[in-house]
Amino acid sequence: MKEVKPPKKPLIFYYLIVLAILLALNLFLMPTLMNRSIEDVGYSKFLSMLSQGEVGQVQVKEDVILFTDSAERPHIYKTGKMEDPDLVNRLESAGVEYEKAIVEQGNPILEFLLSWILPFAVIILLGQLLSRMMMKKMGGGVGNPAMSFGKSNAKVYVPSTTGIKFADVAGEDEAKEVLTEIVDFLHNPKKYTEIGAKMPKGALLVGPPGTGKTLLAKAVAGEANVPFFSISGSEFVEMFVGMGAAKVRDLFQQANEKAPCIVFIDEIDTIGKKRDGANGMGGNDEREQTLNQLLTEMDGFDGTKGVVILAATNRPESLDPALLRPGRFDRRVPVELPDLAGREAILRVHAAKVKHVPNLDFNAIARAAAGASGAELANIVNEAALRAVRQGRSQVQQSDMEESVEVVIAGYQKKNKILSDKEKLIVSYHEIGHALVAALQTHSAPVHKITIIPRTSGALGYTMQVEEGEHNLMSKTEIENKIATFTGGRVAEELVFHSITTGASNDIEQATRLARAMLAQFGMSEEFGMVALQTQNNVYLGGDASLACSPEMAAKLDQKVIDLVKQQYARAEKLISENMGKLHELAKYLYEKETITGEEFMTILEDKAE
Ligand code: ADP
Ligand code: MG
Ligand code: ZN
Repeated sequence: MKEVKPPKKPLIFYYLIVLAILLALNLFLMPTLMNRSIEDVGYSKFLSMLSQGEVGQVQVKEDVILFTDSAERPHIYKTGKMEDPDLVNRLESAGVEYEKAIVEQGNPILEFLLSWILPFAVIILLGQLLSRMMMKKMGGGVGNPAMSFGKSNAKVYVPSTTGIKFADVAGEDEAKEVLTEIVDFLHNPKKYTEIGAKMPKGALLVGPPGTGKTLLAKAVAGEANVPFFSISGSEFVEMFVGMGAAKVRDLFQQANEKAPCIVFIDEIDTIGKKRDGANGMGGNDEREQTLNQLLTEMDGFDGTKGVVILAATNRPESLDPALLRPGRFDRRVPVELPDLAGREAILRVHAAKVKHVPNLDFNAIARAAAGASGAELANIVNEAALRAVRQGRSQVQQSDMEESVEVVIAGYQKKNKILSDKEKLIVSYHEIGHALVAALQTHSAPVHKITIIPRTSGALGYTMQVEEGEHNLMSKTEIENKIATFTGGRVAEELVFHSITTGASNDIEQATRLARAMLAQFGMSEEFGMVALQTQNNVYLGGDASLACSPEMAAKLDQKVIDLVKQQYARAEKLISENMGKLHELAKYLYEKETITGEEFMTILEDKAE
């Protein structure tokens, strides 16, 4: 994608030209004037030279007479002007030119330029430079800063051969389908208008961060071969009230002139948030005005003209409902986290950009990276390439990819974090505890890898479980199993050392969240039935749930959550204490090897000859 600025020369360009001209005048004109030194002579000398025919030219000025001799390179003389009524006659009879100027002594225009305009020019220039620097610091506009207030910063993208195409976006087929239709409309609007169909004015890409919304919009630009205005919501937010609205107006005016074209507003939630009357102090007047202007503009223009507005956000629930109503962003295009096939495809797209061994098992990596977004997958490939370089190889291999999945998910291996032997032992038992509980239950994902190598993320070790296939629904049993697995670490510590550590804090958090969701959101208890006691606020930002029930109910819910986790803890305790032999054996093995694979784990576990 080639970005092309509107073909306006920045003002600084002109200033520079003016400055250059002044400097040139200064350098070339002034010295020639100065060099011709003028000799002061008496009037009588002038008269005698005149009578002897030695005078070349004469210039009579207000109070002086300038004249030259008749030499090859004339010398200039100056004399005071006398009351001499005969002067003209004398000059005539001597045949001297007296009309022409010899020296523009103190050329008035030049003098004016140098003494008045130049300092001003310099001052203005400096001011411009300073204000430009300031604007940059404040994240402000490009181009001519003094005039950019109220102008949109939308960049014009023109199609180019290196542009991003739909092929660069892996997976996300539904989103691509919708957007393809829009591209098609821009290419042959007739097909649609003939049948009387109106194209949606706007499409809103919604989905978690890093799923390729911005990428998709760029791909639309790359495919559509029409001008593409791209601006981020935050760029509308200006220092002065009213400027954001002016920018919106300007953007749409530009778009109307360039139609058919696409306007893309990234992170639209920055301006499109719900307007709430509660904000009585006028704190967010500016944002509201901007939003209102946007709504007005979207209503105002003619849908058949071929201006399509795309916007992206990862918090659709916070958008003002007015934006989502038909006639505005009436198409919602979900851009979700990729599924297994999608992850594999994304890995392939990005792996194609790095050198790698031919037989990489993308499926295995995709399975290990469950829940990763497109951006994270791109990052995984890049980390793998970095690791290969670090190890002095010229190709990415499977182990690089596997390690980088962990890096992206759990942070870098912390090389210098030394665990004491005692700690290492505790962590070994803790992790085997998790793995054992997971393995001893049916309906739980197989153990893929166990490690006690500390990570920069703070984890001292972890057990990685990888689902066999894609998983969309979770049964009640599976959730209970998961909770039991979370408690398994603490159970093992308790059973072996009869003391507990802080190592389980993350497990506790996750177990609690799951238990609470199970009761309050998934309706998986007899006590509450299918009643929603809490709602998820920020679906895409993995966000907080808020309670939607009476305080009494909330108290009851809390009690039930405690009961549920305790119940699963007891179950895990039972499972592990029935297999203490295996626990010791596996923990010792892990302690020595620090990282073991799922297969190693299962071989020892299933080895009956103890
Ligand atoms: P969003 O705007 O949804 O937060 P981006 O579009 O900025 O995410 O994606 C960030 C990066 O992640 C992209 O530049 C691309 O490298 C990678 N990426 C995300 N989704 C995909 C995908 N579906 N196919 C290929 N690459 C992707
Ligand atoms: Mg984005
Ligand atoms: Zn744990």
